Amino acid sequence: MFLRLCTLFVLFSISVAGSHAAKVEHYLPKSQSYDAELSKPEKILGFGIGERHIRHDQLLSYFEQLAIESERVVLTDIGRTVEYRKQVLVTISTPENLAKLPTLLNTKQRDTNDPLVIWLGYSVHGDEISGSNAALVVAYHLAASQSEDVAKMLENTIIVLEPSINPDGMDRFVNWVSTYRGITPNPDANHIEHHQQWRTGRTNHFGFDLNRDWLLLSQQESQNRLAYFHQYQPHVLGDFHEMGANSSYFFQPGIPSRTHPLTPTRNTDLTRLLATYHGAALDGEQRLYYSEESYDDFYYGKGSTYPDINGSVGILFEQASSRGFQQASINGLLTFEYGIKNHVLTSLSTIEGAWQNIGKFKQYRQQFYKASEKAAKKESFSGYLISENYDSYRLNTFLNKLQQHQIKVYPLTEDFTLDGKLYEKSTSYYLPLAQKQYRVIKALFDQGTNFQDNTFYDVSGWTMPLAMDIDFHRVGRTWGLELSEQPWQQATKKPILPKANAYAYVFDWSEYLAPKLLNQLLTADIKAKVATKTFTSVINGENKSFKTGSIVIPTVLQKAADWDKNLKRLAKENGIDIYSLNSGLTIAGVDIGSGSIKPIDKIKVLLVGGKGSSQYEAAEILYYLDATLGIPVSVIEQARLSRIDLSAYTHIVMVDGNYKSLSDKTVTKMTAWLKAGGVIVGQKRAAKWLSEKELLQVKFVSKDYKEQMFDTDNLSYKDKEKLSARKRIAGAIFQSNIDLSHPLTFGYTDSSLPLFRNSTLIMEQPKKPFLTVAKYSTHPLLSGYTDRNLVNSIANKPAIIAHNVGRGRIIATTDNLTFRGYWHGSSKLLANSLFFAKAFSASAD
Ligand SMILES: [Zn+2]
Repeated sequence: MFLRLCTLFVLFSISVAGSHAAKVEHYLPKSQSYDAELSKPEKILGFGIGERHIRHDQLLSYFEQLAIESERVVLTDIGRTVEYRKQVLVTISTPENLAKLPTLLNTKQRDTNDPLVIWLGYSVHGDEISGSNAALVVAYHLAASQSEDVAKMLENTIIVLEPSINPDGMDRFVNWVSTYRGITPNPDANHIEHHQQWRTGRTNHFGFDLNRDWLLLSQQESQNRLAYFHQYQPHVLGDFHEMGANSSYFFQPGIPSRTHPLTPTRNTDLTRLLATYHGAALDGEQRLYYSEESYDDFYYGKGSTYPDINGSVGILFEQASSRGFQQASINGLLTFEYGIKNHVLTSLSTIEGAWQNIGKFKQYRQQFYKASEKAAKKESFSGYLISENYDSYRLNTFLNKLQQHQIKVYPLTEDFTLDGKLYEKSTSYYLPLAQKQYRVIKALFDQGTNFQDNTFYDVSGWTMPLAMDIDFHRVGRTWGLELSEQPWQQATKKPILPKANAYAYVFDWSEYLAPKLLNQLLTADIKAKVATKTFTSVINGENKSFKTGSIVIPTVLQKAADWDKNLKRLAKENGIDIYSLNSGLTIAGVDIGSGSIKPIDKIKVLLVGGKGSSQYEAAEILYYLDATLGIPVSVIEQARLSRIDLSAYTHIVMVDGNYKSLSDKTVTKMTAWLKAGGVIVGQKRAAKWLSEKELLQVKFVSKDYKEQMFDTDNLSYKDKEKLSARKRIAGAIFQSNIDLSHPLTFGYTDSSLPLFRNSTLIMEQPKKPFLTVAKYSTHPLLSGYTDRNLVNSIANKPAIIAHNVGRGRIIATTDNLTFRGYWHGSSKLLANSLFFAKAFSASAD
């Protein structure tokens, strides 16, 4: 019986595979001989490449086997994803080179005699999976080929494959496709197989696009990879993707005018040189392709651009996606197998082209660093002074990111004054421009607002110190600056711990993890209050003043068992100083029993998700609240909202999205909940929707008004694309002035706060006072491209509005407060909306 079942199963598999049953030979160069001792992918997988969408564990099983069987292959475990899948690199070279690999990877200054390093990364977008499948073929070819050319190439070359850059996304996608794929192939583009759920396989666990994170490093997958990228120092990096089913095949160069000026022209020349190899490979099989007509090399957070500021040449490849097994397209039936083969062809043409031009790539790298050194010397300033006095976590996270980018930053050993500002040695650092990573420093710190081409595939402004609200100041000369010889290294902070039997305990709200500690305390039934007015107490014989937003824990209110032990343990865990007060009487400001020190309630947060809500913005909110602050968030899809008892929740967070599907009944229910004391936080189009439902008492600048700002009288048809680029904000940084006296800004000490905006929604100034928490400055554009007309209409308009609705509160913004997980400056406004919404009262009526 068992045998019969097996036979049936085999027959069944073949019928599923249809006519595309593919042995590895189908993808390989013709007339080459291969080592018969090495396992082919189909032997380990039990099916041919292209017959099924492989899962990450199946992919790993092949590489593990290949590494055992082949002397040319080494598998490196580089870390775990959020869902605990293994991230790997597959290094392929001669056994001699592989033996020398550990020494080579530890050598910072490489020699021109060292091997050429080619890095090929596949399927960072987990639902663009032809790349990962191609990686298996490429590895088999390089490991098993008996060609003399391949052997010779490997003598001087190290090839690194990252076969599955986003394992969590890959498996989410594969499970979807495999669930909905029919037994009979169905090319209908409308079939559910090709239409994923709300959180698609493109993103990682939370919903982040890892192909925007190379520079920002908010996600652990990126951090794990970057350490190895800098060890390997690849000369060429290929980044393999998919695009819409009706396109053909794209390889870089992209649109020439959209290359970031920090990328040397020679980089594009070498990209173009390699393009001749890709073209020849695809010509050989009569396959359609194009280059230079789309995609750009501007934003440095992508796999094909980050290498360009690191002495390497990054190249983007895009295959038309069959998404599922096959899909009808304007170019005929597009199969999964066809896409895989294209990526195999260009993987091999990348290796061939780089190998044939080995001298040029090595010379390019040397010249790249020499030119960087020269350019640093030509700058009008020598470096940056960096400081943050109140939030050690945010400062250290920033310095840590710089360190991961191999940028050296030096602690001050003496206090220093520049332009009237005191830089305290304990919280200030100097970053010299004259170092190897000069171009990466420029990419992270520059604030360009004028560009050759104003069309951007992604954000145009991403200045990291602005996003993280870290003070940075250009330094002309370093005279008088006393620095440590050793660059910054991460150290664990030892906080001031609470003393036994105090009258009350206090901690400052400026620390990034203060909301985490507060939430842990509330969850442990420890009563906490927030100071809405300042006070000064005597601690250990010295005066200590506490800012608004300080969290006060009066001993007399505590009923929970072991609350004092828990307070001590949690403060230690979060590295937050706890001050012990011996008396309720203060020497200035309010006393501890004052009504201005207000109770804080426990929170329970609902995030409206599902189709219609932006999966990226939901990811950013979840990453901040759940992963960083340890606040559980209940994600409830729009479709389920009508059936949920809202009284269990204190807050509803609504990200950018389309909320038209919410029924009138749901809106009535939300309104009643809000009036009874609920809090709604709405971002971008959610804010607009709240205004349309007359919950948010704010008017938005009309579409017509924005349209008429652009003069179209003398435009010809060719200007169409340019006009639409001028009308959008792809992503830029704006300066706001926050009202430091408002409870929603507790924890901030500087009224100037950069905000990130990738929408053209603009709120009108409300007529009533006290509703505007943040307002754009008169000349608000800090970094990135925005048309002057739009900048002028944004100037002096509100950025954040908050007011009462019955006993509830509504808080709205047109910006993205937690963008891409690295906007550590504005994200606290969200935490404040959760904990301090009832600490203010502002009527809009
Ligand atoms: Zn992609």
